Amino acid sequence: MKQKFSHYECSICGANYNPGEVTYTCPKDGGNLNVILDYAALNKNLTPDKFMDIPEASLWRYINLLPVEDPGGFATPLHRAGWTPVYQPKRLAKKLGLKHLWIKDESPNPTASFKDRASAIVVARAQEIDAEVIVAASTGNAGAALAGMAAAIGAKAVIFAPKTAPPAKIAQLIVFGAQVLLVDGNYDQAFDLSIEATQNFGWYNRNTGYNPFTAEGKKTAAFEIWEQVIRGLPENEKPLTIFIPVGDGNIISGVHKGFKDLQALGWLPNMPRIIGVQSEGSAAIANTFHQGDEDIKPVQATTLADSISVDLPRDGVRAVRAARDTGGTYITVPDSAILEAIAELGQVGIFAEPAASTAYAGLVKALEEAIVQPEDPVLVLSTGSGLKDVKAAMQAVAAAPVIEPNLEAVKKVLQ
Ligand SMILES: *Cc1c(COP(=O)(O)O)cnc(C)c1O
Ligand SMILES: [Zn+2]
Repeated sequence: MKQKFSHYECSICGANYNPGEVTYTCPKDGGNLNVILDYAALNKNLTPDKFMDIPEASLWRYINLLPVEDPGGFATPLHRAGWTPVYQPKRLAKKLGLKHLWIKDESPNPTASFKDRASAIVVARAQEIDAEVIVAASTGNAGAALAGMAAAIGAKAVIFAPKTAPPAKIAQLIVFGAQVLLVDGNYDQAFDLSIEATQNFGWYNRNTGYNPFTAEGKKTAAFEIWEQVIRGLPENEKPLTIFIPVGDGNIISGVHKGFKDLQALGWLPNMPRIIGVQSEGSAAIANTFHQGDEDIKPVQATTLADSISVDLPRDGVRAVRAARDTGGTYITVPDSAILEAIAELGQVGIFAEPAASTAYAGLVKALEEAIVQPEDPVLVLSTGSGLKDVKAAMQAVAAAPVIEPNLEAVKKVLQ
């Protein structure tokens, strides 16, 4: 089969591998593999206008820069992943004192989180290599996304999730018909177990920071930000600053990869500044960034933002570089600020889960610390829906009063 990418390149040792030679990480050092496209060949045929001129309201509009063929599944959820809206909440911008603020909301994805982008591409790849069973370890969203995308085209999925995952996410897994295994342990233990099972049963593994194609799906958010926001910025404007919540570090690496693809084609004059945001209770990558090296040391994660609760990030090195190589930084926020951010975003009609609101909490702190200036154009990536974790949402706001069913009681409350 003709492959749509040129080779893999190890992010640690730089070794190159042919498409058929490896499947997951670098055999020498376990480094994450970058999927490298043939940019010279692409440049011959493709222009930005041609690239954008595909009438498809999903990430498949970017088929020309994806390393897989279109998997079909038209008029199914697989063809609705991506192409999420960017909002310009003027009231919020004014309150923060920002000239330009965009929020890219990932909750309209078919399974209500950013993870659909990665799972769509992995499901396509699985079809190409004739993999029958796709497996993932997940704190919830990656599994729900894989289960949903697989269900859309009748593929089989096996999901390992910590038994403590929010009930809504577990419900999604089961409703989508995946084989669900709830692990009496944390995400990191579910991750290791899923790899063992993959090797034992000959499955195809989607794990974040392990399968090189997840970042290729996630990079489509960068293409959208470029098409929806960056191309419209006045030329003399400062580069866009983007806030991204970080757990394993695969979203931030994937978004960085998308911008690097555009840069390699000469279509991106100014690399955006990428700022990663972590919870103080799960800050392995931020710690490494601020130590100034790439040596990721595990933590004991304790944050209520389950989607970014990770002891040992699986894509930490590339995640450090995404901020370092773009003039960005890492910011950590307490869980209290993450909850406040849920309430703030709610005020402009955006319902975020804790991991998603973490990015906004990072923006608030960046303004306090003058890491961002009022005239900087800013985009916040809100990665998943608040419906995923209603318990956390209720912690973020005051409870509603319960009243007797009469007008007197209404008057009393409204006083
Ligand atoms: C997975 C996830 C993240 C973090 O992505 P990483 O690749 O693990 O850094 C952030 N927000 C949500 C909603 C997620 O599901
Ligand atoms: Zn290597």
